[in-house]
Amino acid sequence: MEFSSKLLENAVNEMSQLPGIGKRTALRLVLHLLKQPKEQSQKLASSLVAVREEINFCENCHNISDSKLCEICANPRRDEQLVCVVEDIRDVMAIENTSQYRGHYHVLGGKISPMDGIGPGDLTIPSLVNRVKNRTIRELIFALSSTMEGDTTNFYIYKQIEPYNVATTTIARGIAVGDELEYADEITLGRSILHRVPFESSLKNN
Ligand SMILES: [Zn+2]
Repeated sequence: MEFSSKLLENAVNEMSQLPGIGKRTALRLVLHLLKQPKEQSQKLASSLVAVREEINFCENCHNISDSKLCEICANPRRDEQLVCVVEDIRDVMAIENTSQYRGHYHVLGGKISPMDGIGPGDLTIPSLVNRVKNRTIRELIFALSSTMEGDTTNFYIYKQIEPYNVATTTIARGIAVGDELEYADEITLGRSILHRVPFESSLKNN
């Protein structure tokens, strides 16, 4: 792609670093911004800088939060003995949208994936094991996507917390294996949380 302006080229190059954004799309977005009032670009840029600089992660569940404890962990009406294990904040948002869940979360930040060089220590698994060890958690609900990496991660955690006498369940899936949690519709996802099954029985089915 030949550019008549170095400034334009830089903006397109930066924009095209984002996932799913090729050079052509990046050019379209930049040209769009150039047609809009200056303030729009300023707001976009400053909101990105602010989210990058100031964002916190909840020290309890690792959800993205503006304060030390996220709104869910800080809410006394939520059941702190029930913890749903998810991959990232998109899963928290999907489950919250169902309005069927009143427990806490634990956000792993990914899944164990030896192919991509991601091991348990790269995720918040040690912190989850500590939560189980140090507090009265009654039940852990595994809600990772049912891919090989998701299954591996569930099983690893299950083995780590086995000594601590915590019930483990997995959400009942009405959706095909490999579907990502964030794409499940709200009713299906809500139902699958209510009709969760013991984790051990999900192992026997495999
Ligand atoms: Zn939290």
